[in-house]
Amino acid sequence: MKKSASVSSPASNPRLEFSVRTSAPALPTVILKPGEADRVVAGHPWIYAGCISRLTAEARDGEVVQVEDSRRRPLGIGFFNSKSKIHVRMVAPERVAVDQAFFEERIRAALAVRQRYLPDATSFRVVNAESDFLSGLIVDKYDDVLVLQTSSLGMDQRKPLILAALKAIFKPRAIIERNEMASRKFEGLPDANGALFGALDGPVPIQLNGLTFEADLRGGQKTGYYLDQQVNYRLVADFVKMLPGAQVLDCFCFQGGFGLHAAKAGAAQVLLLDQSEETIVTAQRLAKTNGVAGQCTFEATNVFDWLKTHGSAAPHEKVIPRFDLIILDPPSFTRNRASVPDALRGYKEIHLRALKLLRPGGVLATFCCSHHVDTNLFQDVILSAAYDARKVLRRVAQYTQSPDHPVLPSVAETEYLKGFAFELAR
Ligand code: SAH
Repeated sequence: MKKSASVSSPASNPRLEFSVRTSAPALPTVILKPGEADRVVAGHPWIYAGCISRLTAEARDGEVVQVEDSRRRPLGIGFFNSKSKIHVRMVAPERVAVDQAFFEERIRAALAVRQRYLPDATSFRVVNAESDFLSGLIVDKYDDVLVLQTSSLGMDQRKPLILAALKAIFKPRAIIERNEMASRKFEGLPDANGALFGALDGPVPIQLNGLTFEADLRGGQKTGYYLDQQVNYRLVADFVKMLPGAQVLDCFCFQGGFGLHAAKAGAAQVLLLDQSEETIVTAQRLAKTNGVAGQCTFEATNVFDWLKTHGSAAPHEKVIPRFDLIILDPPSFTRNRASVPDALRGYKEIHLRALKLLRPGGVLATFCCSHHVDTNLFQDVILSAAYDARKVLRRVAQYTQSPDHPVLPSVAETEYLKGFAFELAR
């Protein structure tokens, strides 16, 4: 093995020093087909079965293997899994020991990014898998509780090391596992859910931009809350200050992330819609907690139905626009590529009807969290809805996911949330 100066590992790690200075035993080596190394060099950690020319020795699933290009130049090490279409997930561009110190160092590096870009946040995504060079690992911090997801076999097998690293860095009250994602099945992993450390008694109150929300870490959405809009809540609420006496409509409100921020920013009235009764009860409670209940009205309803009723008129009649700020933040309407046409019809419908309810000079803030609909396609749908509604839009802002969900452009999968704010120009 080549001696590799390990840039990303602390020199104080005695095991690493050992593995660098002495010739460590040879690892099974995965040799790629010609032309398959470029993506890996650019930072994409996935190696599909079809990209591999051969293996020098048998590798056990979950084991660390060495990866080389077709001319046998080393590309680094990764976790092997013959059960997954993704046969190798790269771990490091050089040979390092994948031990507790390795995880501590990677997680601390990820944490430093959050502290730089979200210095005041107390709840955020600590590790965002590929974006933080830890493919298959997600860690969310909800105040003093951590939530863990391991979606690759290699990561799942190393949960004890990851737990030890997390305890050392954060000294959390509890660490909860939320491992019931479909992606685990592709790795041959069963569902798993529960406390790995400590215990929980009910939802965890979290602070986002000075407002209180609740992370339900046992039954809630995703890992408990949608953290990816933390910065956008603030940015969208800023429009309220430009729209005196603002009437706001928050569609697909969940706990009221956008709506409650708008109310706090001084909106005259906010109407929040979500189809889940339970969610609406939580949002109502949180409106009180945040001292904005007097400005907020809630309705448990299907947004499509609500907009159909309120955003369309009989022939020869006109819808009276009555909102100054409308937020559309629906769940992803796509599961796969095949469902994209249906999803686009859904996006078009809600935009068409919402635009009819927006006052001239008002703002539509709209988001799409589907991997399969990119920024251009999303804007095209909005423009075609505007055309059908005979409205002209002026784009005043563009959004992406909060910086605790960093985007690596070389790994397209890391970019999923896109949003725009359009002023109704005419
Ligand atoms: N804007 C929220 C996140 C929205 S997540 C935030 O920033 O926190 C999507 C929400 O839409 C979920 O709460 C879900 O219950 C709700 N939902 C899904 N389909 C819906 C529909 N057709 N009508 C109304 N609400 C819906």
